Amino acid sequence: MDSTVALPQPQYATHEVTNQAPPLAPYDASDDPALLEGLRREGAEWAEEGIRRLGARAGSAEAQEWGELANRHEPELRTHDRYGNRVDEVDFHPSWHHLMRVAVAEGLAGAPWTDDRPGAHVARTAGGLVWGHTESGHGCPTSMTYAAVPALRAQPELAKVYEPLLTSRVYEPGLRVPAEKPGLLAGMGMTEKQGGSDVRTNTTAATPTAEPGVYTLRGHKWFTSAPMCDVFLVLAQAPGGLSCFLVPRVLPDGSRNAFRIQRLKDKLGNRSNASSEPEFDGTVAWLVGPEGRGVKTIIEMVNCTRLDCVMNSATLMRKTLVEAGHHVRHRSAFGARLVDQPLMRNVLADLALESEAATTLTLRLAGAADRAVRGDEQERAFRRIATAVGKYWVTKRGPAFTAEALECLGGNGYVEDSGMPRHYREAPLLSIWEGSGNVNALDVLRALAREPGAADALFGELALARGAHARLDATVTGLRSELAEADQVSARRLVERMALALQASLLVRYAPAAVADAFCATRLGGDWGHAFGTLPAGTGLDAILERALPGGN
Ligand SMILES: Cc1cc2nc3c(=O)[nH]c(=O)nc-3n(C[C@H](O)[C@H](O)[C@H](O)COP(=O)(O)OP(=O)(O)OC[C@H]3O[C@@H](n4cnc5c(N)ncnc54)[C@H](O)[C@@H]3O)c2cc1C
Repeated sequence: MDSTVALPQPQYATHEVTNQAPPLAPYDASDDPALLEGLRREGAEWAEEGIRRLGARAGSAEAQEWGELANRHEPELRTHDRYGNRVDEVDFHPSWHHLMRVAVAEGLAGAPWTDDRPGAHVARTAGGLVWGHTESGHGCPTSMTYAAVPALRAQPELAKVYEPLLTSRVYEPGLRVPAEKPGLLAGMGMTEKQGGSDVRTNTTAATPTAEPGVYTLRGHKWFTSAPMCDVFLVLAQAPGGLSCFLVPRVLPDGSRNAFRIQRLKDKLGNRSNASSEPEFDGTVAWLVGPEGRGVKTIIEMVNCTRLDCVMNSATLMRKTLVEAGHHVRHRSAFGARLVDQPLMRNVLADLALESEAATTLTLRLAGAADRAVRGDEQERAFRRIATAVGKYWVTKRGPAFTAEALECLGGNGYVEDSGMPRHYREAPLLSIWEGSGNVNALDVLRALAREPGAADALFGELALARGAHARLDATVTGLRSELAEADQVSARRLVERMALALQASLLVRYAPAAVADAFCATRLGGDWGHAFGTLPAGTGLDAILERALPGGN
């Protein structure tokens, strides 16, 4: 048949497509006043140009597509090669590597630890807030790499070798001798089958070898994400008790360390990222910190990953709010654009308040981390308690928020093409790992009871907003008496109120009055329903939306 002969085209066009939103990309993920103001306020004004550049890149059609493809083409485990030799490798779609390369190059992994500029950790957090608009999964290895550095410093001779590589801006996947690579990624293995929150139940055994500081491990981990990382911080039981170890996948002589990946987890979300079950048998490991002090050593890592959970929840909120705002500007129903319908404006404004509160708190926590690592004791005490408070509350709000933002798109929001189901499935994870909700709430009680200065640091921060809003003043007074009666059964209630007071105090100090007033009027025991979109009559919806969704709401 002559293929040049034009065939009649089938007439499938039964209708004209109208009233559907155009693609959002390209857009600028840094176009968020709460983010940019927080960046400047917390000492990283110098980073603004870079954040704006990264924000534009995150919202580009190319980067948005990477995010989608990395999740659609999930990582695959290759346990053996064709000859039956174990390889224990995970293969990723090229999009994953594109995302990782940009993230590492932009300093979202370990880079801030070698950056002397005040605000370096704030700049990294702001970078995560914008680059996370692409997708969340690759934030796991970058977060663990960032977080491994302060824990590794407990063993200076190991830090000397590995820190320059963990803080490098070069992403180089693949199994090679770590010290010979231009940049490394780190993971962590704490959780075992019989216990995750309660790591004291770990059974993986660490046996000392003849060489001081070197052990062999035997046992398993039930969750170890990003198993393609180069090195891992792993908890195991040494003769002196639960201890922290550095486990490389390739040993200094070039041979493979025993790191047998049994399988990858089939997860609700976070599907671009691989989460594995490794087994150790004769696995060579280097002790990090003293024997028996494993939790104390690795908690340095958890401090950092918890901040990233808050950051990632705030990112999901902002990303889904932007998607919702875009849709309602282009979609009409019952004769008017959705964005002009009073009840939709109430929903969007309520989401905008929540998003701004989350972003503002994230950057305040990043500022505290930045100043704490530079030796500010007051900020260290504030960071200790406020990060646990923020991790509990902001990650708890994520699932409800993303569900509501998804609903703004109607049926389209429930369909994978929109990207909203992916964000919705990611949200609960941030509340589970790095201390599930109850564990975080109880950790706040522990900090209050055991950490000198923690309560004072929190109330000191709240006092900076004293007199600015009557409802906030009343909440803070109430918190003081609740604290005296704090017990496990009421821990969630207490921590929720602490978080809301903290968010309100920041908004009262830094956000426009319309935002701060609406937040205090509703979140601090006021006239507010249980679902989003229940702001009371008289709330300044226009001012809130103009700020949250600039460029025509
Ligand atoms: C996708 C994914 C990736 C992960 N990646 C890693 C990883 O890379 N490395 C790693 O080490 N772990 C990882 N984890 C494990 C994760 O950190 C744990 O699942 C989490 O800490 C909870 O531990 P658990 O699953 O053992 O639950 P449990 O500890 O059994 O907790 C179950 C429930 O009980 C609650 N609870 C626990 N103690 C108390 C208490 N005293 N009072 C009241 N309630 C309590 C918890 O809040 C939770 O709701 C990952 C998990 C997921 C889902």
